[in-house]
Amino acid sequence: MKLIFATHNPNKVNEIQALLPEHIQILSLNDLDYHKEIVEHGETIEANAKIKADTISDLFDLPCFADDTGLEVNALGGKPGVKSARYAGQDKSDEANKKKLLKELKGKEDRSARFKTVIVFKNGDEEKVFTGLCEGEITKEPAGKGGFGYDPIFKPKRYSQTFAEMPASEKNKISHRGLAFQQLIEFLKA
Ligand code: IMP
Repeated sequence: MKLIFATHNPNKVNEIQALLPEHIQILSLNDLDYHKEIVEHGETIEANAKIKADTISDLFDLPCFADDTGLEVNALGGKPGVKSARYAGQDKSDEANKKKLLKELKGKEDRSARFKTVIVFKNGDEEKVFTGLCEGEITKEPAGKGGFGYDPIFKPKRYSQTFAEMPASEKNKISHRGLAFQQLIEFLKA
């Protein structure tokens, strides 16, 4: 069974391929020679995942899925949310995004936040949506060198380390994307 993951990110493809039985083969957009960036103009994380899945499903005759992730900070009314990648500007700088978030939260008591990943799976007219949530808090300063994005300033609930301080295997077990992937995998196996 071949399945398209509507992403150009090889790390995401490897992460899910490693969890799937051998007969399910994931193709990325690079494998399909599709190098355009899909414009994510949706107003929610769900809408953006659906835009990506719909675009690719219309172009290729294979089942496909897309993911989208955002970080929702309670004291900021759910921001950066759907704008997580471009929080500090169009160049999608992880460094600038983290700096801006720490600045916005300066002096705020409530630092609770959650990562949310939505996966939209399409197979012809069939559509399934899977959501993974990871609750935690924004630390006062960065810690750790692993991971990417906001990992050095996100500490999941009941853990004493940030995502950036954990081995990837441990992060993947509890992370928003890991949990959403697990639901997709159960569905695909069934
Ligand atoms: P995307 O939808 O996976 O591209 O994620 C949007 C943005 O959220 C990225 O640019 C990252 O800054 C951030 N992000 C997504 N997943 C994670 C994660 O697991 N850890 C830290 N930041 C993340």
